[in-house]
Amino acid sequence: MVMQGTGEKDRINIAIDGPAGAGKSTVARKVANRLHYIYVDTGAMYRAVTWFMLNEGISSENSEKVLQMAQNMVIELKPHENGQMVWLNGEDVTPYIRSHQVSSEVSRYAQIEGLRTQLVHLQRQMAERKGVVMDGRDIGTTVLPDAEVKIFMTASVKERALRRFNELNGAEEITLEQLEIDIAKRDRLDQEREVSPLKCAEDAIVLDTTDMGIDQVVEVIVSHCISHMDGEK
Ligand code: C5P
Repeated sequence: MVMQGTGEKDRINIAIDGPAGAGKSTVARKVANRLHYIYVDTGAMYRAVTWFMLNEGISSENSEKVLQMAQNMVIELKPHENGQMVWLNGEDVTPYIRSHQVSSEVSRYAQIEGLRTQLVHLQRQMAERKGVVMDGRDIGTTVLPDAEVKIFMTASVKERALRRFNELNGAEEITLEQLEIDIAKRDRLDQEREVSPLKCAEDAIVLDTTDMGIDQVVEVIVSHCISHMDGEK
């Protein structure tokens, strides 16, 4: 399946939501490559802000200070062959934002309403011209409720922890059991927060990827997108 001849006016937006470790970013990046679309990893934006605040010693409890600092922040997402690079105030912070410390704190900062408003505004700007595959927690419900294709990707906690464990490949000293606990905790915080909780949009296609390979998931999503585009013609 090729996307040749797809003009700018035919482009659509694709929202991919789901819990931590469901494989969203790998899948979203591959879907974007296939369609020659732009990939936007919104989790990386929350992570970059979290990394910055932790470095500055600003607690997530101090939302006033967080908002004040975030206001002057410049976040840039730049495409890279291995995914996406994140720059914060002119510095490449990509290597730091996936650390265990950032992962365990990010959901606390992501609960701050004013911070979400700022990031959602940026995310909508990125998708304005269509042709975007955006992954996160609230893309189909809040950021891009008009996205033409919405996917909600899930997998069991066990499987998600295992994927993360294999991905780390010993880079961090953490056990599979601890990863399971961390992922379950992050799920809870993301699902229970008041502002834009992780929730499946009513019109989303639900994909349980526990027993699916990455390429299989990519195929399913790309097929949905192509059917949608064909249906629009
Ligand atoms: O996708 P990733 O796991 O990198 O996201 C890190 C965290 O950022 C999530 O656990 C969630 O707390 C927050 N997030 C969010 N809304 C998004 C994307 C991420 O609240 N759209």
